[in-house]
Amino acid sequence: MSNQDLVLILNCGSSSVKAAVMDVAKKEVLMSCLAEKVGNPDAYITFKVNGEKNKHDLSAPHDHTAAVMALLDELKKLGLYDGVKAIGHRVVHGGERFTQSTVITPEVMRDIEACIVLAPLHNPAHILGIQAAQQAFPQLPQVAVFDTAFHQTMPPHAFHYAVPTSLYTKYGVRRYGAHGTSYRFVAQETAAILNRDINQMSMVIAHLGNGASITAVKNGQSQDTSMGLTPLEGLVMGTRSGDIDPSIFSFLAANANMSIDQVTEMLNKESGMLGLSNLSNDCRILEEAAANGDQGAELALNVFAYRLAKYVGSMTVAAGGLDALVFTGGIGENSDSMRKKVVDYLHVFGLKLDDQANLDARFGKSGVISTKDSKGNVLVVPTNEELMIALDTAELTGMHV
Ligand code: ADP
Repeated sequence: MSNQDLVLILNCGSSSVKAAVMDVAKKEVLMSCLAEKVGNPDAYITFKVNGEKNKHDLSAPHDHTAAVMALLDELKKLGLYDGVKAIGHRVVHGGERFTQSTVITPEVMRDIEACIVLAPLHNPAHILGIQAAQQAFPQLPQVAVFDTAFHQTMPPHAFHYAVPTSLYTKYGVRRYGAHGTSYRFVAQETAAILNRDINQMSMVIAHLGNGASITAVKNGQSQDTSMGLTPLEGLVMGTRSGDIDPSIFSFLAANANMSIDQVTEMLNKESGMLGLSNLSNDCRILEEAAANGDQGAELALNVFAYRLAKYVGSMTVAAGGLDALVFTGGIGENSDSMRKKVVDYLHVFGLKLDDQANLDARFGKSGVISTKDSKGNVLVVPTNEELMIALDTAELTGMHV
C-alpha cells in the first residue's frame, strides 16, 4: 500500500470538514468523509469506503482538529496512511495575491489570513483546517488550491466595477469570481472531448449548482465571470438573487424598514429560485412541481433559464466567440429540460440541440449534445474539483503521476 501515491483532499467549512483520499495515477477516490456540526458537542463524522458508510461521534473538543484526528485514525485502520504523500486544501478566496495553486508556507498562511476580509465565513475555517492538518500530518507537504485563482487572468475592463477607483485601491472592491477550480477542470476536459487545442478555443462554461456562475474562457484563460466581489452577483441561483438593481437596498430601507444586513440576508438566503417559487431552491423539486402545474415553480425555472441565456450572450462577447457552450454542476449535468430551455433562447446564435443526446447526457455522462449543423458545440461535462486539487497537489509536491 505504501508504494501508492495518494493525496488527501481537505475542504474545511466553518462547521464541516469534507475529505477524500485519491489515488492520483488512477484518478480514483479510495475513501471520503464528511464531518458535520463541527464545533458542537453533537459533531459526527461519516466515512465512506467502497460505497459503505459508517458514522462516529467526534471526540471533545469536537473541533476541526478532532475531525482531522479521526480521519487520521481511519486512514491507519484502512492501511492508507503510509500512502498519503501530500495534502491539498480547497481555499475559497485568494484575493489578487494567488494566481495559481501553491505549496503552503508560513507566508502563504499570512496571505490567506489577509484575504479573510474578502471571505469572512470561509477563509477562517480553511486556516483552522490547514492548522489541524499540519498538526496531524507534520511530515506532509500541504498545498492550497484557490477558487478565485483561475479568474485572475480577467482583464481590468472585466474586473473593475464602475465606481470610484479608490474603492478598489483602498478596499479591494472588484470582481473576483468563484468556482475557478471547476472551470479549469471543465475547460481542459472540453478541449480533450472535442480533440481541440485549448489554446485556440473560445468557451462559455456554466457551472450550475446551488451556487451558479458562468465564465468566458479564451485560449484556456478566464476572461470574465458572473460572480463578483462576492458570490451574490450574476446568475439566478438556488437562494441567491444574482444581479439586482443596487437601489433595492435603499428602496427597502425606506419602504420596508429593512437594514442592510436584512436585505443582504434576504438576497443571499431567501431569493433566487426559492424566492421566486415560494417552494424550494432545489431544481429537481421545482421541475416536478412545474410538471404538475405549479406556476411559482415554472416562473422560477423560466427566470433562471432566461437570465442564464442572456449571460451566455454577454460571455460570448467576452470569450471572443463560442466554439463550445458547456454545462456543468448538479443542474447543468442532470437537467436536460433546463439545458433545453437555455439553448432554445440561443437559436439566435445558431446553436441547436440534439434532443436525444441531450436526454442521454445525465448522471455523470459527458458529451456533445448539439447537432452536427449547430454553429457551436454544446456539451455536458461533469466537473471534478477534487481531481483538480489532487493533480495540482501532486504536481507541486513532485509526486510522480
Ligand atoms: P453544490 O453547488 O451544492 O455543489 P450541486 O452541484 O450538487 O450543488 O447541484 C445541486 C443542484 O442540482 C440542485 O438544484 C439539484 O436539484 C440539481 N440537480 C441534481 N440532480 C438533478 C436532476 N436529476 N434534475 C434536475 N436538477 C438536478
